[in-house]
Amino acid sequence: MTTPPDAQARRAVAPVLVYPPDTLDPPDLTAYRNARSQARKVSEVVVQPREGGCFRAGAGQFFRITSVEGPQVGDLNLWAANDLSERFFSGKTRALHGTHVGTGDRLWSCLPYLRPMATIVEDTLDWYGFDQYGGGVHDVIGTRCDPYTHRLLSGGEYHHCCHSNLTRALAGETGLPVTEAEGHVHDVLNVFMCTGFRRDTGQYFMKASPVRPGDYIEFLAEIDLLGALSACPGGDCSSTHSSDAAACFPLLVEVFEPADGALRGWSSPEPNGYSRRHRD
Ligand SMILES: [Zn+2]
Repeated sequence: MTTPPDAQARRAVAPVLVYPPDTLDPPDLTAYRNARSQARKVSEVVVQPREGGCFRAGAGQFFRITSVEGPQVGDLNLWAANDLSERFFSGKTRALHGTHVGTGDRLWSCLPYLRPMATIVEDTLDWYGFDQYGGGVHDVIGTRCDPYTHRLLSGGEYHHCCHSNLTRALAGETGLPVTEAEGHVHDVLNVFMCTGFRRDTGQYFMKASPVRPGDYIEFLAEIDLLGALSACPGGDCSSTHSSDAAACFPLLVEVFEPADGALRGWSSPEPNGYSRRHRD
């Protein structure tokens, strides 16, 4: 390999944002919070350690994920409640909002729907920002721990990776066979997980989550949602995952219904309007 003589000049070219912040209309967080202040709780699910659980939130309802008992990371999947082919699109959410999401960011659905599925209304870990290692909280860069990668790297069998927990939870909720449910499981929002990339090597890293019991992240469901959450076997993901070695704790999911008419001016977004002709 030879380095070209103008290598430094090429590297010195200034970057431009692919999707500048003014690309998207911001959500009306004030209206969302006003509606939330009068909302009443309609359901809750406790996701047990190293297990998954499903919940449903209708368009215009709020759902909150809370750390209880001890620091714990959660892996979140979202589908349109009436169509599992519309699911959370981690990659485009990352492109639009960055590697880690927080208050005001949205979780987008896959092509060809590409609409907001949920909007983050409150995040008690917004204060974390990015640390000295480049780590941040709630990433859309990881995929989910899974038994295939585990087998590839260790040769063993482990059935409580987030991929399997989400698969079992979806199968239980929908009645689908596990092998069919598995095909609907997708790249996650890593709730409460603290991750980043090393600047020198580009390698993906994790570190102990700053989450503490009582911390939560709350969303407005922009469309009717079916959600699945796994309490990752990595616990706070400070050292290991894909095993029973880490201390793990439950996660609480609560759904809240605002008062009639409280979300004035809001309407559930339609699927993306592109014609899908793909040619002139
Ligand atoms: Zn996991």
